[in-house]
Amino acid sequence: MLFELQAQCATTGARAGILHTPHGPVETPVFMPVGTQATVKGLPQCWLEQDLDAKIILANTYHLFLRPGHELIRELGGLHKFMSWPRAILTDSGGFQVFSLSDLRKISEEGVLFRSHLNGDAHLFTPESTVDVQLAFGSDIMMVLDECLSYPASHAAAQSAMERTVRWARSGYNHFLRRKEETGIRSSLFPIVQGSMFADLRSACANELLELNADGYAIGGLSVGEPRALSLEVVETTAPLLPENRPRYVMGVGMPDELPEYVARGIDMMDCVLPSRNARNGCLFTSAGKVIIKQSRYRNDPAPLDARCGCYTCRTFSRAYLRHLFQAGEILFSTLATLHNVQHYLDTMRQIRQSILLGTFPAYLAAVRAAGSV
Ligand SMILES: [Zn+2]
Repeated sequence: MLFELQAQCATTGARAGILHTPHGPVETPVFMPVGTQATVKGLPQCWLEQDLDAKIILANTYHLFLRPGHELIRELGGLHKFMSWPRAILTDSGGFQVFSLSDLRKISEEGVLFRSHLNGDAHLFTPESTVDVQLAFGSDIMMVLDECLSYPASHAAAQSAMERTVRWARSGYNHFLRRKEETGIRSSLFPIVQGSMFADLRSACANELLELNADGYAIGGLSVGEPRALSLEVVETTAPLLPENRPRYVMGVGMPDELPEYVARGIDMMDCVLPSRNARNGCLFTSAGKVIIKQSRYRNDPAPLDARCGCYTCRTFSRAYLRHLFQAGEILFSTLATLHNVQHYLDTMRQIRQSILLGTFPAYLAAVRAAGSV
């Protein structure tokens, strides 16, 4: 996988580039909409592709492994064909969901034994098996199995999880290289830097993982309950340790006003369930801040949700109509709200990218900071 760096901000760490995947180019920095169950909830694929022009989406290995199963997806031609999505797909390793959704898990050197949250069946994820599952999907970008801790964690616990993460990354990566040689696939596997909130552990982890010479690197173990200033601090110290000519991905962040903050720290890729999950709960992100659509002040508001947004929802409907759909519990609300929120995130990233290319990113960042958090 080739990562082409196009521009770098002279005063911050912001970068603009193009990530060439087997399913097309992805302009960075990029926000990846989350399609947990091989669907971005509420959005048909044609809207994702044509209206939103998303170039890459994320799907969750844990969920698709349990249902419908990776073998079935392989039989049906892989995840792209199964879900009729022609562009790039990134899948996680399943580790984060095992640690957050499944109880009765048992970690050993071999891997993590867990029970399905659906029916209680026992399964084992190993560094090798999660690679095989993602190969069955045919993901463009796969992630290694890592050990995720919640916040706060002691230095000793974080060190032990980080060291295991490094060992698992080595075995997973070696397995991936063997499979790659056998099959000739062009996918990439990204290792994940762990180490909780400890700078020395993050640094040690990054150093070890660099030996793998991977196509890209992720920073994991964030958005696990820590204050957002701390997440930014960890990224600020970790990102410069990663190779300049490879994409850097921060997993599971953030709010709209945090996107330029991560980009300013040298991050190229992000994903988060916030735009889609909040949309379904009636929380909409606009250029003027958050709109909580159930509030009575929108009852007879004829204005569009966001006059500066070009999405179908904003072009077509009033806040009053959206509020009515939400209050009535109509399915269409979720679709229209998700369309808008995802568009807002993708537009934000496109503006950030444009400002980096034009050399005006510092002014863009200053304006976002002056506007305060949304
Ligand atoms: Zn809109």
